[in-house]
Amino acid sequence: MQYFSTNRRSPEVTFQEAVLRGQPDDKGLYLPASIPKLPAGFVGDLVERSNEQIAFDVIRPYIGGCISDEKLFSICEETVIFPFPLVPISDRISALELFHGPTLAFKDVGARFMSRCLRHLSPERNGKTIVIVATSGDTGGAVANGFQGVDGIEVVILYPKGRVSRVQELQLTTLGGNVTTLELQASFDECQTIAKRALADADLSGHASVTSANSINVARWLPQQFYYFFALKQWRSGPPVISIPSGNFGNLASGGLAKTSGLPIAYFVAACNANDAVPLFFETGKYQPKPSVSTLSNAMDVGDPSNFVRVLEIFGNNVAGLKDSMCAVSVSDKETAETMRYVHSNYGYVLDPHGAVAYKALSDYLEKYPGSNGIILETAHPVKFDSVEGIIGESVEMPESVSGLFSKPRSVTELKANYDAVKEIILDLAK
Ligand SMILES: *Cc1c(COP(=O)(O)O)cnc(C)c1O
Repeated sequence: MQYFSTNRRSPEVTFQEAVLRGQPDDKGLYLPASIPKLPAGFVGDLVERSNEQIAFDVIRPYIGGCISDEKLFSICEETVIFPFPLVPISDRISALELFHGPTLAFKDVGARFMSRCLRHLSPERNGKTIVIVATSGDTGGAVANGFQGVDGIEVVILYPKGRVSRVQELQLTTLGGNVTTLELQASFDECQTIAKRALADADLSGHASVTSANSINVARWLPQQFYYFFALKQWRSGPPVISIPSGNFGNLASGGLAKTSGLPIAYFVAACNANDAVPLFFETGKYQPKPSVSTLSNAMDVGDPSNFVRVLEIFGNNVAGLKDSMCAVSVSDKETAETMRYVHSNYGYVLDPHGAVAYKALSDYLEKYPGSNGIILETAHPVKFDSVEGIIGESVEMPESVSGLFSKPRSVTELKANYDAVKEIILDLAK
């Protein structure tokens, strides 16, 4: 399997090179040259297979022999070691709970898979590998957790000051060791711009191998397909509508791979918050990135979703083709909170704000199509978000992995949104 750049001005590369580079030189994103089709009978047999076997079978064609089958299987085993239950909420909507991993968010899967691929694929060399990651809340913790203590790898996390929750901030700042956490006086988009600049900086790559752990890296992005297979493994009726709380659109783009490979998904609902660049694109046909605005679902506060170009490519690069497979809607904070209260009081289920955006978008969609049923991806545990208790008027039980963080020492450096200051820190780590 070869990977091409969506900007088509960089050469095709293998899986290994795509992982090590993160992003092509022409600043596009890597995409697989073809989307492999599932073998006959695969979908019907899902229920017979273990999650690690499903993960291995799905990802194997994308690796193109860069990792031995034996090693790849053990990476898959370590990646999907927690449960992915499909929990019914109402009679038409179920939640695929993706928050049972170490940092209580779906990004644990991609981060675990990528850290293990990177460790395995990095050439033996004297220089260090620096993993740089901009986070709007959940990525940083998941990535840092996946890489913690890995020899020869330094992780640099950039997060926007004041825009992440109390639990997220704890998860980001209590790791220490090979994890350097920078709190920037900046928006998430500015953090992402700085991370992208570091990745493209030839001067830096002379000192260390710099790579990204954002969802633009194929090793983070491709394994997100697993969720859709785990959902269908537990699903007992016709092809579901799947509603995806979307920010950078990595999750949705990976769902597009799963569907194109032959997984029976009726339709995707891209559920966005007030950051509505993609919903507006569906309305007007024009894509106009905007500065991000803060919302209750802060991991989706993205004004210029970097993976949307992948969605366009996968669904044929035209609005009409896209609309056959998906719609995109914007849900306000008011609707998000109302949905959390409604679902809590009617069904006794506590949604986090991201899941609530997906629930609202899906229930509006299903109202128009009486015969259909659907699944929301519940992307994070409600305890990660400070707003939840106030909204539902009840406290959320704190898992042990979180309560233990309060007594750990914190380490974080606050900086202005200044590329040179960040670069200096990276150069220091490369020594
Ligand atoms: C990252 C994140 C999202 C958005 O996922 P994308 O792949 O960036 O669209 C949604 N919910 C939560 C909890 C997240 O952490």
